[in-house]
Amino acid sequence: MNESGVYRSSGTNNAPLPLPNVEQVELQAMLDWLSTYGADAQGGVTRLLYDSAWCEAQGALAAKMQEKGLSPEFDQSGNLYGTLKGEGEGEESATGVEELPVVTGSHMDTVVYGGKYDGAYGVVAGVLALEYLQKHFGAPKRTLQVVSLCEEEGSRFPFAYWGSRSITGMTALEAVEHLKDQDGVTFAQAIRDAGFGPDSAYRPAAKNYGAFIELHIEQGQVLERLGHSIGVVSDIVGQKRFSITVSGEANHAGTTPMSWRKDALAGAAEMITAVRNIALEAGEPLVATVGRITADPGVGNVVAARAVFSLDIRHIRQESIDRCWQDMLQAFSRIAAEQQLGLDWEEHLSVTPIPMNAEMISDIQDTCEQEQLSYWLMPSGAGHDSQIFQPACPTAMIFVPSQDGISHNPLEYTAEADLMHGFRVLVRLLYKYGYGS
Ligand SMILES: [Zn+2]
Repeated sequence: MNESGVYRSSGTNNAPLPLPNVEQVELQAMLDWLSTYGADAQGGVTRLLYDSAWCEAQGALAAKMQEKGLSPEFDQSGNLYGTLKGEGEGEESATGVEELPVVTGSHMDTVVYGGKYDGAYGVVAGVLALEYLQKHFGAPKRTLQVVSLCEEEGSRFPFAYWGSRSITGMTALEAVEHLKDQDGVTFAQAIRDAGFGPDSAYRPAAKNYGAFIELHIEQGQVLERLGHSIGVVSDIVGQKRFSITVSGEANHAGTTPMSWRKDALAGAAEMITAVRNIALEAGEPLVATVGRITADPGVGNVVAARAVFSLDIRHIRQESIDRCWQDMLQAFSRIAAEQQLGLDWEEHLSVTPIPMNAEMISDIQDTCEQEQLSYWLMPSGAGHDSQIFQPACPTAMIFVPSQDGISHNPLEYTAEADLMHGFRVLVRLLYKYGYGS
């Protein structure tokens, strides 16, 4: 028994478990079905928080959970839970600590013109895993739950992870209700229109979980390139995002000699090269990206007076992010001084790295070995709901390969065999935590 309370006890992981094969589980069919809610003109899926496609999808999924015997229930935020009630629910375990449910799931919302696997895979796999376990083993000892989180992407309102933040109590509705979408609709209005919020009949979102497991597509190329079936997530990277402003002097492109110029764009170009060199020198898993640049006045025959570029730095260790930023800032200052340019910067985002639960990581590795699946311990370079859950309860993430690493795109694709590998690992883990005796 560990202190974090993931287990009832250990020792049953090797119990014979009739695991499903592709023909027995409607994983692909259910993903295809769910993708019809919010199917867009680009051949992808667009389901934004509380919009009509989102409402229809959550409603249809609730009906599906009902069919499968998973007693569906919404909370005030619109998170949808399906529950397989444990025989010992409400009782104290041998350690005197009440065992909280083990929860799996992911998010229902998508980006605009997204794919059909991001988020949906973890939700669908969770529903089918619970159905499978109930069918073959009956009620678990410990309550198992699947959650279809209402929002993760931040695609409608400028705020991400609303589903998991509302569950963990990290953010209250008051903190976001004033936010507006691009049509000027407030968060408060949208949640009410969708039938949720504090005036609805649903219970508040805040809730204690015993453990959280998220199955998700990798959204990168690492597993495919290295030829592994499963990614065991070690950490979710931390991030810092900045906007860097370089100021020079607008001048005539024909009459200003090169040596007299204060060219903001040329200075920015040198700084961007420094970003790349510093990141390469720091080595993996550090990544740094300049994805956007604007020049002012932005005219072909005028030396640029101002250039503004974005900077995104990610790593699994906070000190590495901080060191890298300091190195870059030093390089920017040197370049600005050499070229007689002004330099200004603003930090937009700072997220600390989150390591996943060590014991759950080792359980996933054991499970992969039992399943004879090759796995790779890797950081997640993208943010996920798991980083919100981990500080509140033991949390782990399982990745499956994404074809060509493409995601947030209608071309997002994971082969059914790969989907099944992740599914089998999830079933085994839920069995261990829910039925271990
Ligand atoms: Zn996702």
